[in-house]
Amino acid sequence: MSELRRPLLKTDLPGPKTAKIMARSDRYLSPSYTIDFPLVAADGKGCWITDPDGNEFLDVCAGIAVTSTGHCHPEVVAAIQEQAARLVHMSGTDFYYPVQAQLSHKLATLGAVKGDDHRVYFGNSGAEAVEAAIKLARWKTGRSGLISFFNAFHGRTLGALSLTASKVIQKKGFGPLIPGVHNAYYPDPLRHGDEATAKAMASLHTMFERVIAPSEVAAIFCEPLQGEGGYIVPPTRFLQELRALCDEHGIMLVFDEVQAGMGRTGRMFAWQHSGVKPDILCLAKGIASGMPLGAIVARAEVMSWPPGSHASTFGGNPVSCAAALKTIELLEGGLIENSEARGVQLRELLQSSVSGHPRVAEIRGHGLMTAVELVTDRTSLKRDKQLRNDLVGRCFSKGLLILGCGQNSIRFSPALTISADEITVATEIFAEALYELAPA
Ligand code: PLP
Repeated sequence: MSELRRPLLKTDLPGPKTAKIMARSDRYLSPSYTIDFPLVAADGKGCWITDPDGNEFLDVCAGIAVTSTGHCHPEVVAAIQEQAARLVHMSGTDFYYPVQAQLSHKLATLGAVKGDDHRVYFGNSGAEAVEAAIKLARWKTGRSGLISFFNAFHGRTLGALSLTASKVIQKKGFGPLIPGVHNAYYPDPLRHGDEATAKAMASLHTMFERVIAPSEVAAIFCEPLQGEGGYIVPPTRFLQELRALCDEHGIMLVFDEVQAGMGRTGRMFAWQHSGVKPDILCLAKGIASGMPLGAIVARAEVMSWPPGSHASTFGGNPVSCAAALKTIELLEGGLIENSEARGVQLRELLQSSVSGHPRVAEIRGHGLMTAVELVTDRTSLKRDKQLRNDLVGRCFSKGLLILGCGQNSIRFSPALTISADEITVATEIFAEALYELAPA
């Protein structure tokens, strides 16, 4: 049997070359960025990152759930190179070009949203997809009200930020944000069990009784698996009731699958776990394996805004479209199945290695969108942010790149190409780090 590949640390962290680059970045980069550990990524291949000092790290963050086909997948690199040599930019808002036509056709025929005959709008990022969805929902309904959920992250541009209700630092000092936005409670199955759906729906009903008439609400924005909020899997019944509520009041149901979409959860779209379809779907992150691209999909009857009403110079850039077409080919060619299978393996290994630990409250997720929630004890379920942060740092010191999500959870969001052996090594390091930090 061959030896499993493990992280290889040749220097203290950060090593000398790494430290130099960090110092330069710290001197010149905006201090608004959030750097969790002293990594400088010099090269990436699959699930492995090498730093400038030659240290090799196993990466289960994938550039925050973006490099769906792994770092520098050779077929994606070839598609990018070929397109870059042919046409880098033309502006899809004013001109036709083949790859944008191909990609819009592909995305419009995946059954992404409710109804038939779908249309696609391209932007450059998740936030831009959310902005486009806000504008489309308002334009289509003639209403201005918007609802999103507590703990949700929808992006940092002013419209998307208005929906975001994740951390106050993201909003502090930037107001006034767009008016007409209200927040409801997302289900919390860990703490509310069978009552989770009822509690979340009650907050919406209260809102409609006391805060805003449903007839003034353009859209409800919901992540069918909440990402930055902690990788929370809502009950199927919640999504079904949300759909029914939207149908009853003529409200657009927008699913933000910027993080959960494109195979990450073991299905092309995360809503497929429930069968509940949105009116508008937001996509970005994993769609183009790391090239900047965002998209929204809606049925033609919804996306009927006139020429000039919305556009973006770089949106649907040819190189990004070529990367997305190759990414989707690879997803359909086996990576979605791998995401499902490796996700099952991951949760089984976490169950056997850490579920008995008294500070682990829950292991949850679908596919390769899986989290471990950490608490001070299992009776109070008090969130243990410190342990989470320490664990991220300890994993890094052992060569495992992993990030937190929510206040007190750790997320596994590796490339969908990850192998069974890499999952084994990642969970071994994770368990070792946890038991070192908090001996049970
Ligand atoms: N929506 C969700 C669900 C996200 O997770 C994110 C980013 O983490 C965004 C929107 C914003 O995406 P971007 O950072 O590409 O603007």
